Amino acid sequence: MNAPSSLDLFEGAIARLDKAFQFADIDAEALERLKHPKQILQVSVPVRMDDGSLRIFTGYRVRHDDTRGPTKGGLRYAPSVDISEVKALAFWMTFKCAVMNLPYGGAKGGICVNAKELSRLELERLSRGFIEQVADFIGPETDIPAPDMYTNAMIMGWMMDAYSKIRRQRTPAVITGKPIPLGGSQGREDATGRGAYHCMHEVAKRRDLVIRKTRVAIQGFGNAGQHIAQLLHADGYKIVGVSDSRGGIYKEDGFDIPSLIQIKNESNRLQAVYCTGSVCEAIEAEAITNEELLELDVDVLIPAALENQITIDNADRIKASVILEVANGPTTNEADEILNKKGKLIVPDILANAGGVTVSYFEWVQNQQGFYWSLEEVQKRLGEMMKREFNHIYECMIEMNIDMRTAAYAVALSRIGEAIASLGTAHYFSENDS
Ligand code: NAD
Repeated sequence: MNAPSSLDLFEGAIARLDKAFQFADIDAEALERLKHPKQILQVSVPVRMDDGSLRIFTGYRVRHDDTRGPTKGGLRYAPSVDISEVKALAFWMTFKCAVMNLPYGGAKGGICVNAKELSRLELERLSRGFIEQVADFIGPETDIPAPDMYTNAMIMGWMMDAYSKIRRQRTPAVITGKPIPLGGSQGREDATGRGAYHCMHEVAKRRDLVIRKTRVAIQGFGNAGQHIAQLLHADGYKIVGVSDSRGGIYKEDGFDIPSLIQIKNESNRLQAVYCTGSVCEAIEAEAITNEELLELDVDVLIPAALENQITIDNADRIKASVILEVANGPTTNEADEILNKKGKLIVPDILANAGGVTVSYFEWVQNQQGFYWSLEEVQKRLGEMMKREFNHIYECMIEMNIDMRTAAYAVALSRIGEAIASLGTAHYFSENDS
């Protein structure tokens, strides 16, 4: 897949602000502030490898804006991680938290590494080493990391443990997405997929979809992709295409998702930290490329892997009428325009995948209170919040006659703008006292 450079990613993210500005109640000065991340940290993490050699890994943490609260956002382990990618991801987190009305600003971090090549012990050393480098930058009241691509609950547990040792006090609220016995929340594991599922549920109601006839393709079969597949399949949707980094598969009458998940994850038991199995190993299915998957004749397309997948090069060939963005930044601005002109409904990433950060917020609240909720309570609160914010944005979209992404940014911008204005803007300070 051809992904444009990550420099475009941050610039593209900023361009969306300008588009939403005219529909939001926000001072131009506040808008300007949001174009500049608050703090950027780059670190070098030395790791003793199993063969005795020393390797230095580069890591980042960016805090984009903290006007509405401490910053929140995941940590990604991937070779693609660079400062521009992390800046863009931090920027999206600010808006995602505002879309969900969470008392947080946005942040993101990551390490430039192919994590699949590391042993368990190397991975642990790297994760603890990263925390040593960023310990003064993060904290339960300043900046709270969480999992993202190629990081998981166990890694969050190592990081929480490392931070607690540095601070000499147990600090579960410094990080979310932890294993449940270490202060993790019920329902965090499938929260992103479940949040997206609630959005789909609302789309189906709004658009009178006949669920059993609704055909779905999903790009990316990791945490987020598998969970939404499972929930949609249980409701009766036909999941006809799925893919992962090695390629995709297609089945005209739909996959049995639980068996597919079992096949994909079987190697977990053998290989430990990362799944090395591929959906392509599933039997009785037609092999397709990731490019073909995106262009399948389906009703709903769910990109749940990487950024910049739907671009000016393939937007014209996208047949799905609904695009549910589970991945962060899967659609470029140019592609957005093409799809909007064709009347496609794009449920934007900052809403569609916000279930993860919402349950991360619940986890942080539970850690602060030392009082833990049941799975039913977590899922009920998540469902209520997703439905409320989806419908609020959908109504704004209709009212202002704009696309759903612009509506989501306008809602978020207004909320952030209100917080910034509460501290005073040029308009306030230049007013005469008399
Ligand atoms: P994951 O690491 O569990 O899974 C990623 C999946 O994408 C894997 O199946 C991998 O094989 C596949 N993939 C990688 N490269 C690919 C390629 N070139 N083509 C097709 N598939 C490819 O990650 P995840 O947590 O499921 O995250 C997926 C996306 O969702 C990311 O954009 C992430 O930022 C976003 N997201 C995740 C969460 C969360 O809580 N997990 C929350 C918000 C957003």
